[in-house]
Amino acid sequence: MNNPLIQAISQWGEAPVFNGDEEKSRRAGLLNQTILINLFFTGLVIFGALIGRHVPTGVLLIATLWFVLLLLSRRLLRSGKSGMVEGIVVLVFFVLLTLTNINLGSVRTPMAAVYVFWVTLIGTLYRRPGILVAMCVSSLTILVLILAENSGLLPRVNDSVGVTQWLLYTALFGMTGSLAYYTNQTTQRALARSKNEIEQRKRAEAELRKLTRAVEQSPASIVITDLTGTIEYVNPRFTKVTGYQFDEVVGRNPRMLKTDQTKPGSHNRMWETLSAGGEWQGEFVNRKKDGSLYYEWANISPITDIHGVATHYLAVKEDITERKWTEEALRASEKRHRVLADNARDVVWTMAPGGMLTYVSPSIMDVRGFTPFEAMQQTIEEIYTPASQVIAQGYLSTLQSDLEAGRTPPSFRGELEYRCNDGSTLWTEVMAHPLVNEHDIVEILGVTRDISEHKRLLQEIAQAKDATEAANQALQSANMELARLATTDTLTGVWNRRHFEEIANTERTRALRYKHALSLLILDIDHFKRINDSFGHPTGDQVLIGLTKLVGGALRQSDVLARWGGEEFVVIIPHCAASEAVLLAEKLCTLTAAHVFPDVGTVTASFGAAELKPDEPLEVWFKRVDLALYAAKTSGRNKVCLAP
Ligand code: GH3
Ligand code: MG
Ligand code: MG
Repeated sequence: MNNPLIQAISQWGEAPVFNGDEEKSRRAGLLNQTILINLFFTGLVIFGALIGRHVPTGVLLIATLWFVLLLLSRRLLRSGKSGMVEGIVVLVFFVLLTLTNINLGSVRTPMAAVYVFWVTLIGTLYRRPGILVAMCVSSLTILVLILAENSGLLPRVNDSVGVTQWLLYTALFGMTGSLAYYTNQTTQRALARSKNEIEQRKRAEAELRKLTRAVEQSPASIVITDLTGTIEYVNPRFTKVTGYQFDEVVGRNPRMLKTDQTKPGSHNRMWETLSAGGEWQGEFVNRKKDGSLYYEWANISPITDIHGVATHYLAVKEDITERKWTEEALRASEKRHRVLADNARDVVWTMAPGGMLTYVSPSIMDVRGFTPFEAMQQTIEEIYTPASQVIAQGYLSTLQSDLEAGRTPPSFRGELEYRCNDGSTLWTEVMAHPLVNEHDIVEILGVTRDISEHKRLLQEIAQAKDATEAANQALQSANMELARLATTDTLTGVWNRRHFEEIANTERTRALRYKHALSLLILDIDHFKRINDSFGHPTGDQVLIGLTKLVGGALRQSDVLARWGGEEFVVIIPHCAASEAVLLAEKLCTLTAAHVFPDVGTVTASFGAAELKPDEPLEVWFKRVDLALYAAKTSGRNKVCLAP
């Protein structure tokens, strides 16, 4: 078949195929076949006519015309115009055939039999009606030709032809037509049947492939056993769950996975149910290849044949270990929380989003005097005082609006006032937390704590704090007074002797270190005893006060005035040498003598002055100034004496 010429011819002779239109393809195939056969035989006729003798020119012309028409039709057929070609072939074939018969002058020539071919062609193309029509047309044509020949309209070649011949031809057409029809019909039916069967098989195969894939990829373990329980098939999921490979389990019994943890009697009940033809569902605790246990939920049912007789068992099993643990943990957690809630001193509660309580712990009885059942029947108005109702309701509507806006609803923490069974009210601290799923609030979980005692304690603490603060303040001012008393003279308000000694010591140290001058004055009121005696002690006191003011007002900020004792005063003067000290003392002396004291009149005082000598001890310095005062007293009073 590798001959390029044969290949080219067979390629040229191929029938066109119209995808998606089977009937059109079938007719095109038939036409193609008809055209090819006709081309061959017409070619032979032309060839015979060219080389033979006594062939009428009309026949040669018709044959040539037919040959050309056939080539044209094939071209049309290949370009898809099969309908047109059908018409040309069917009609032209008939016309040319009849013309040939007329031309040959007798229906007894073999050409008359060629109608058989025409009938077959039409029968194959148009089926039963085609055959009937073609048969009748051919028969009538022959009859007309015979009649025309017999009546002399057509040239008579040989003997006369009669009805017998016409009947023979008609019978030939009938038989051929019926045979063509029958063959065509049978072929069509067989083709349709096999096509149907192929399609059915394809469908069944696809279905089987799909089912096999589903079983292979199933998220559930699938085990198929025979009726004795011997494993024939396990799917990959089974392998994944148990750790056993396909080859390790096929031929064995599923009891290889069995443990004593499965509920007693489960296996017996399963076999009873299956033997009775029923479907069994239940839980197993099985052992994997690595020894670990797992829970599975199994659904086992018999597989029956077309007669309903069980041939196998099918087990579809789901690994529920994780779910089991989760459930177990959840149960334990719920129990734990219930125990905690039931025994809590605080009131633990849950609330539906609408505001109704769905659980209240027993401690509600101690806190509000209602039983949990009574509390759960109450409306929000019966639970809270009006102000607290507003807060509670505000929180509930915030929850709703936050949820609608896609925000995470907040928890609540605040103080709310509850109504009690005895008509009283009670302050509590409430903590509430919304439990939310994707779109809704499932419930609100809350804890209410009685804080009335706490509030009372807070109040007491506040009172105690106020009292302590007041006491502290009093203590502080007493301390300040004490400090003042310890350093100042009560009568005149200037520094007392003890404090003055401290100051003098400090000033002395500083003066010696920085080598600056430091002087000390002492003054004593002259004949003070007489003032006391004449005007009374209180008036004497007033003189002391007045003198302090007088002297204090004449001093610099850095000078320090103190009461030395009785009616004697001392002044320490920093950065002051003896000469300046004498000048200041004389100024003070004159000032005193010039001052008029109420009730008493004028008073004089005597002054002693002494500048600190290098490294002179304090007592020695004081002694020297005292001696200077003594000198002023003994030398006539109302004067200043400088210590040597
Ligand atoms: P002179 O100093 O000039 O020698 O005579 P004098 O009378 O002032 O004598 P002296 O200094 O010894 O007496 C002091 C008197 O001052 C004795 C006492 O009664 C009186 N005196 C002392 N302290 C106070 C006082 O706080 N208030 C009053 N009113 N008198 C006092
Ligand atoms: Mg004195
Ligand atoms: Mg005196």
